Amino acid sequence: MSTSDDMQKSELWEVSRRLIGMDTVSAHSNLEAAEYLAHYLQESGFESRILTDEVEGVKKASVLAWFGPQEPGGLMISGHIDTVPFDGQPDWKTNPLELQTDGKRIYGRGTADMKIFLAQAVVAARQVHQQHSTFKHPLLFVFTYDEEIAGQGSGHLVHNILPTFFKETLPMPEYALIGEPTDFNIFPAHKGFATFDVVVRGKGGHSSVPKQGLNAIKKMSDVIQIIDEIDQELQQRITPENLQLFPECPTSAFNYGVIKGGLATNMIADTCRLNVSLRVSPGDNEEEILNTMRARIEQEIAREMRAFSPECGVFIEHLHATPPMKSPLESPISHLLSRIIEKPVEHGAPYGTDAGQFQLLNINSYVCGPGTLEQAHQPNESIPIEHFLTGQKHVERIIYEWCVKGV
Ligand SMILES: [Zn+2]
Repeated sequence: MSTSDDMQKSELWEVSRRLIGMDTVSAHSNLEAAEYLAHYLQESGFESRILTDEVEGVKKASVLAWFGPQEPGGLMISGHIDTVPFDGQPDWKTNPLELQTDGKRIYGRGTADMKIFLAQAVVAARQVHQQHSTFKHPLLFVFTYDEEIAGQGSGHLVHNILPTFFKETLPMPEYALIGEPTDFNIFPAHKGFATFDVVVRGKGGHSSVPKQGLNAIKKMSDVIQIIDEIDQELQQRITPENLQLFPECPTSAFNYGVIKGGLATNMIADTCRLNVSLRVSPGDNEEEILNTMRARIEQEIAREMRAFSPECGVFIEHLHATPPMKSPLESPISHLLSRIIEKPVEHGAPYGTDAGQFQLLNINSYVCGPGTLEQAHQPNESIPIEHFLTGQKHVERIIYEWCVKGV
């Protein structure tokens, strides 16, 4: 029998197949998948709770499931249930909702980001629990929704659910493992991320009489000037730690993504919209940076525009932000992960995760999981076949060493 046949008979394959088969694109409900995970863990001996929420008329759910003594020092394992869309990605060669393998890789939406990790984690927990019915430290699973939409699901948990849960049900765990696709690199940090639109509303008119209008594109260039100056200031704030974690860009940084404005060459542009993102290094605060930006735009541009005409001005719209995260490079869990996975803990992840939200509660997270970032969000998303079984073994050892043996 080939390895591929063995693999397809494994429990891990079955759980992965079920999870990939459920459409959990962020815009849709993830309730079925949440119930499946909660039920699986319940059958494995865990207590579990499904927390439902309604987002724009769609039912969303998070799962909390736990086992072990009601004591601090626990381990939290977390991942998001939602995936990015596959509609409008014409290059798919397989059905995104069907787990498939060609003997080298395993395909399906969410294989890398991050349903196979979820499957590995719950199957590993069942295996360890079957062999060891008492744990020294508790294990808590936290599965979230809408991670792909600026971490809104974990934000809701952190602000509304977990503080009470940690007071009444299970003491707050010390560390979290988040299995986003890192090629099994162990990332103790990542930057925060904010996106927003700057909208300049000027006053239109014919270009032959420029003084009758207020050109929104011209004013946008003043806005860009201000953001550039703030960006320059941010680039001075280099800390040795951020230099180690993010050698390619240790500081917070702005990026201009899309700009739209104006209608024709002989018209004064009445509006201009600029899509901006800001990556925030640990130690910087996105709110502070954005407040500085707002205040300067108000003082140097918007006030004068309103004096010209009250409907003119500069507006910030569609602001979404997730905080940065930084855990200690050296900690009992970082040493354990490093020993089991045989990788150093030295650099930050190039993307944001739910860990930024969890850190608001002082839970230190490490991001490490199967698959690579290049695969996430792509058509024909996949992970190498070796990552499939290795991932489960890693999580089994992590749970065994931390929760059963007690590090
Ligand atoms: Zn992800």
